[in-house]
Amino acid sequence: MELTNRQERILEIVKGEGPITGEKIADKLSLTRATLRPDLAILTMVGFLGARPRVGYYYTGKTGAEIPIEQLKTLKVKEYQSIPVVVNESDSVYDAISAMFLEDVGTLFVVNADAKLAGVLSRKDLLRASLGNQELESMPVSIIMTRMPNITVCYKEDMLIEVCKRLIEKQIDAVPVVNRGPDGGYEVVGRITKTTMTKLLVDVMNRDLPMKEETHE
Ligand code: ADP
Repeated sequence: MELTNRQERILEIVKGEGPITGEKIADKLSLTRATLRPDLAILTMVGFLGARPRVGYYYTGKTGAEIPIEQLKTLKVKEYQSIPVVVNESDSVYDAISAMFLEDVGTLFVVNADAKLAGVLSRKDLLRASLGNQELESMPVSIIMTRMPNITVCYKEDMLIEVCKRLIEKQIDAVPVVNRGPDGGYEVVGRITKTTMTKLLVDVMNRDLPMKEETHE
């Protein structure tokens, strides 16, 4: 990110004299505290400065590039996965559409009678099946889903950034997080979606990684 001249000067002051209050920084620059407030907010948000009540601003030692790269590289799927929404392969297309609305997700994972991953249903899969089709209640999702073994999966120990690359390469919105069972089947234990990645970006910008306990998407 490009810093303005004023932001650079604020950083210099805090580097040399921090922790220092907003008022003192303003005095040094012969500006009002109100004028400075947006700059201090930006510098804190991107992580150049830390702020503590009754102490003031201090320099974190971070440079612009360090924050996202160093944090993103170390994050694992398990820290960000959200709860998967699954339907059975014998469920109807109508049921799947209802589940998508009720659960407010864009991708459903389909499991077989052994509760193992059998397929994936995206919004467009369901839209396509619905076009001009009156038999949605009697049509099982197994007819229209993308099926195993053509499903892109990930594991909870995988690096989140690798899964992010897979979402883009494969042009898909979601990847199931799976455990491989002794019989070779996949148990679905989570999901990583484009929404997960958007939230991650916001967390990194805010340097607020503990937001990960919340449900994502
Ligand atoms: P949409 O179809 O609504 O644009 P996606 O881009 O996620 O949503 O899906 C595109 C196609 O890829 C769909 O046919 C879907 O069934 C399939 N798909 C979605 N997720 C996966 C996945 N993890 N592995 C394999 N195929 C998938």
